[in-house]
Amino acid sequence: MFGRKKRKQQDEDLSPHEMGPPVELSARGAEDEKNTQHLLRARQNMGIVTVKEVIADMTAHHADRVMLDLSPQSQSVAIRYDIDGAWHSQEPKELQTAVGMLGVMKLISNLDVKDNRSRQNGQFGAEYQNVKYDCKLNTQGTENGGVRLVLELWNSKNEINRPGPMGMREEMLERYKELVGADSGLFIVSAPPNHGGFTTTWISALGGTDRYMRDFVAVYDKQKIEPEVENIDNVTYDLAEGETPEQVLTKLMLKQPEVLAFPEVKSADLLNELLDLIVEDNICVFAGVRSKDAAEALLRLMQLKPDAQKFAQHISFVLNTRLVRRLCGACKQGFQPPQQLLQKLGIPAGRVSVLHREWRPEDAETKKGQDVEKCEKCAGLGYKGRIAICELLVINDEIREALVKQPQLDVIRKLARKSGHATLQQEGILLLTQGVTSVNELQRALK
Ligand SMILES: [Zn+2]
Repeated sequence: MFGRKKRKQQDEDLSPHEMGPPVELSARGAEDEKNTQHLLRARQNMGIVTVKEVIADMTAHHADRVMLDLSPQSQSVAIRYDIDGAWHSQEPKELQTAVGMLGVMKLISNLDVKDNRSRQNGQFGAEYQNVKYDCKLNTQGTENGGVRLVLELWNSKNEINRPGPMGMREEMLERYKELVGADSGLFIVSAPPNHGGFTTTWISALGGTDRYMRDFVAVYDKQKIEPEVENIDNVTYDLAEGETPEQVLTKLMLKQPEVLAFPEVKSADLLNELLDLIVEDNICVFAGVRSKDAAEALLRLMQLKPDAQKFAQHISFVLNTRLVRRLCGACKQGFQPPQQLLQKLGIPAGRVSVLHREWRPEDAETKKGQDVEKCEKCAGLGYKGRIAICELLVINDEIREALVKQPQLDVIRKLARKSGHATLQQEGILLLTQGVTSVNELQRALK
């Protein structure tokens, strides 16, 4: 509290929104007029200073997400940053400061500020150092009567300007572009559930298409909008209000889009309608699935019990990804892999002489009593940034037949292998041999 008072005295003439780092916030989630009112109210609240401080600090740490657990029993609030997919604890905040911040974030996301029990999802905008962020907010009551807040910063430009799905090797990218250039067909994009990188995969999969040449429409649940991709129209439905994606689809088809993108296909009705459109209107459809690998993604859609024949006939490929952390180029450590390790990884003897691992404090040459000198590039984490391991399963006639007659995981996997398909594991090992990631990280990601 002392810190707060001191700041107030110093900045007596400033209103809260003029204090703190120069982060420009914008309100979203309501009508324009209401958004403006929300922002004006937030600007008078001291909580806005903390919101700005947290966003500036997250960008300085390259954190994608922050998680705060506010508990009424404790005066301090634990904070964790998600940096490249791993959680790191930060300096705790005072409860009152965190409560103020939560209130402001909810207000500018058009969420119910008083409701700390139900799960609420919203979004607001931020601009800092000439970079625009979509800030996705998720709050939910916890068992001990507190609230958990997760804020995700999304800088869409970063991902969308890639030439295709991130991490795709050249040869696969060529194949991908060829496949998505087809006149019609069902394309599946998949990644693990719960922040397993679906958004990144989805956005970069759409970004890698000929979206400037054809009319693309992406259809989202109002509560789960993905960042915009240039030249792709976003259309929403309000599931919470009882509106279904099928209802939007009927209206949408009047505009005669050439490519439809549904990040969540969860019913046989929707899937069947999309398959009908592929046949009758000769369109392409991107469908999102949350799954651990390509074969599983196919089966997840089959479990919805769509028209199996049609599904098998029109599905073109499954793109599945898994995010792994990149070793920091400045401090990664090369080592000679023991024969046993190579064998375990399935790398033939003589193929690689050096693998790399992450830096560890014991690698530093420090004299007794001195602090370990950490790498400046990665702050001693050993990793910096992420890359996706991509698996592209192209559906052949044998797999089509199995989908109808024997839709089982082991059968599909076996046929995929037979067709020369490289699994996530195999693609990941390729990244290992290139020194992009480490054995530890690969094991963590593919566990
Ligand atoms: Zn480093």
